[in-house]
Amino acid sequence: MSDVRQRVGAPAIQDDATARLPYQLPASPDVSSDVIVPDLLDDDGDDRIWVPQSEHVSFRPLLLSTSNGYYVNLLRVRRSGVLSRHRHAGPVHAHVLRGRWHYLEHDWVAETGTYAYESPGEVHTLIVPDDVTEMITLFHVTGGLVYVDPYGAPIGYEDAHTKLASARQHYADCGLGADYVDRFVR
Ligand code: FE
Repeated sequence: MSDVRQRVGAPAIQDDATARLPYQLPASPDVSSDVIVPDLLDDDGDDRIWVPQSEHVSFRPLLLSTSNGYYVNLLRVRRSGVLSRHRHAGPVHAHVLRGRWHYLEHDWVAETGTYAYESPGEVHTLIVPDDVTEMITLFHVTGGLVYVDPYGAPIGYEDAHTKLASARQHYADCGLGADYVDRFVR
């Protein structure tokens, strides 16, 4: 049986003559530009990039994909408490950058450095425990989420488009300019 690494061409450090030759063909005009966001945890940066959602809760957009229906953002919560119960239409990837939280519906705890995958159809209520003064988590949310009452009845929703609209409004109001958000949209 052949070595799978040989069959699929596993990446390796190369030192042949062409190894450092960049891709030589023109970039396709259909490929959109990269989005690079440095200093995700820059506490001394311009706090206006954080879009307030409610008192003590704000988000920072990283990628708002209006064409593919997902968004990647940082969620920042600066008080302990309960965040609105919601149901996800698509998969969610979470990476905790600071602080700690858990869901009312599960017994696992997301701490700094934790990665969590949440399945489509998942319904949960996020809790920031009393001893946590700030949590920041990177959430990649596919599709959207629906805020629900304890029995699943819908009471609100959120998706890349609502995130974009609130960020645009906030950036206009705070002086960064409504078009500041455009750099995050693909
Ligand atoms: Fe969620």
